[in-house]
Amino acid sequence: SRLMPSSAATSICGYCATGCQLKIHLDENGEAINLSPQAGYPVNLGMACPKGWQALDPLDSPDRATAPLLRDAAGNLVETDWATALDTFTTRLKGIREKHGRDSVAFLSTGQIPFEEMSLLGCLFKFGMGFLHCDANTRQCMATAVTAYKQSFGFDAPPATYADFEESDVIVLVGANLCIAHPILWQRVMRNQRNPDIIVIDPRATETAQAATRHIALKPKGDLALLYALAHCIIRDGRVDEKSLANTEGFAEFAGFLKDYSPAAMAGRTGQTVETIEALARTVSDPDKRVSWWWTMGVNQSHEGVRTAQAIINLCLITGNIGKPGTGPNSITGQCNAMGSRLFSNTTSLVGGHDFSNAAHREKVAQGLGIPVENIPSEYSMAYDEILAAAESGKIKGLWIVATNPFHSWINSGRLAALREKLEFLVVQDMYRTTESAQVADLVLPAAGWGEKDGCFINSERRIGTLKAVRRAPGLALSDFRIFRLIAHSWGCGDLFSEWTHPEAAFKLLRDLTKDRPCDITGIEDYAMIDRLGGVQWPFPKGSEVSQVANLQSRRLFEDGVFHTPDKKARLLFSPPADLPEPPDFEFPYTLLTGRGTSSQWHTQTRTGKSDILRKLYPEHIYLEIHPADARKLGVKDGDVVNIRSRRGDIEAAVYVAPTVQRGQVFMPMHYRQVNQLTHSAFDPHSRQPNYKACAVAITRK
Ligand code: SF4
Repeated sequence: SRLMPSSAATSICGYCATGCQLKIHLDENGEAINLSPQAGYPVNLGMACPKGWQALDPLDSPDRATAPLLRDAAGNLVETDWATALDTFTTRLKGIREKHGRDSVAFLSTGQIPFEEMSLLGCLFKFGMGFLHCDANTRQCMATAVTAYKQSFGFDAPPATYADFEESDVIVLVGANLCIAHPILWQRVMRNQRNPDIIVIDPRATETAQAATRHIALKPKGDLALLYALAHCIIRDGRVDEKSLANTEGFAEFAGFLKDYSPAAMAGRTGQTVETIEALARTVSDPDKRVSWWWTMGVNQSHEGVRTAQAIINLCLITGNIGKPGTGPNSITGQCNAMGSRLFSNTTSLVGGHDFSNAAHREKVAQGLGIPVENIPSEYSMAYDEILAAAESGKIKGLWIVATNPFHSWINSGRLAALREKLEFLVVQDMYRTTESAQVADLVLPAAGWGEKDGCFINSERRIGTLKAVRRAPGLALSDFRIFRLIAHSWGCGDLFSEWTHPEAAFKLLRDLTKDRPCDITGIEDYAMIDRLGGVQWPFPKGSEVSQVANLQSRRLFEDGVFHTPDKKARLLFSPPADLPEPPDFEFPYTLLTGRGTSSQWHTQTRTGKSDILRKLYPEHIYLEIHPADARKLGVKDGDVVNIRSRRGDIEAAVYVAPTVQRGQVFMPMHYRQVNQLTHSAFDPHSRQPNYKACAVAITRK
């Protein structure tokens, strides 16, 4: 019977960067009929959140793209065959390139596909098709953390292992709502037997803040000022760890800079009393306590995210909370394969943890992949926002969007309608034909989804895990890997990728490229070995002691105090905090905060919105969280509809009155399309990550 599983396969969940392993129950034909969390996996320890439990639901949605779609003369998307689709793709993009040059075509991709696929895309686009400009929605997620680690440590090396949640005495969560965004990691916190102090730094009384031992309800984007005030107190009181400081560079300059950041000077900017700041400084510098710091989008999605992340890194470095159990400046990424994108997407960094501007790196990659070194550009791509700005100004005329939905998710999304008008050719490659981006495409390429293809993801603790094809993709949909190979042949550069026959072959090519890099994984034999070991955290160079790693299952970086900079020392980096890009004023008196609203929905609901069960766990219509005093002032109560207006647009939402937000602040979840019509285009200057977290709005009763 189809209801009785006859075998099982394991697969890493395809949503968040926690990287839970799921056990997929298969029928006699090898097709998935159900799933459950995998008990023995060292990440999730037999747990999964609602999204993971329902991960098969979105595959059966009736709006799957099951054939290529091409826009006809009447403006309708009509089904076509693959030969026509590929020919159209190649003819149109080559035509644009001939007329307007290399910089007139770009792609935007994702942290949601396996790294073998994202790597093939990045290598095909740059080394085969000869273009330069490409980026992924990981720019919206963890570009800040990447840049912060690169600048501070000399390599994008998140030091964490999830076991640190269980081994800390003090867990500081900055702009991180684990209960909602990473519920299984919150369960790891709950397993901590050391009676930890759990401190949440967040303007909003999130679910996590309510469950914490201390909530620092700071002013929006008061985080950098607070972190500097903490460092000020620690240095003033001589609570630094001299041994750790010996592994850093820039302490004297940092200490001098911090003289202006006393708690009294920062009280107004942070909304905190001097006593609160002093007490927090004592807690996070207690030499007898293991202090771990964790951050997510509250830090990353900011106009000064890199310096904020580095302020956390600095605190860990000066207090000796790095490279030891229960410590670390630890970024928790958002997407299931954001970490894979960091190393292998060939967009910002040269594939395998290399640098485009480094001639030796280009030579090594060319040899490893068997391609001419001249095919590897020494220049860097434009970032996501720069690509969209170039499309808006008419410089980019051809755009290929793969497994992401910027017409919903990009900041100040109303701008994209005008941009669409400027594009000569828009290709969208996606599981669904109904996303906001697919609906405005000239060509839709139907892609297989999670569960319908093989590959690997890398989670926030650098653990590589495999995903498996446990369903056949519907109709003519193909895996992204297969689509990229077909495009390579259609373009005329298929020979360059003849060794990329299937995802595991690509994995082995990419594995070998990492030799002697900090992310060296040359010790991994094959996918079976990854599964056998319960995932593998990088680095895992050839000769790694398999039995020891299998026993440890949790490895953190920098235990030896040696970093990846030329002098092996970490850098203490800092800049004065900047003002909010769009502070509230008389006309727009409220600050709009955005974030995740539920553990049952993912990003733009493209997949999770297809699950009946997940939809029942979350309001169907958009809502606005508002403080009771502000609700009284506006004369509104729960369920009333209000108009929310920013300088970019206006939308309606139902009121939800709650003291979770402070007076003058309102919160809206990111999962509904309308929200990003309000958000303000401001970017971190170092990482180009957008600042989704705070903009000014006006609210009026309908
Ligand atoms: Fe685990 Fe994240 Fe998947 Fe939930 S969405 S099951 S927390 S990996």
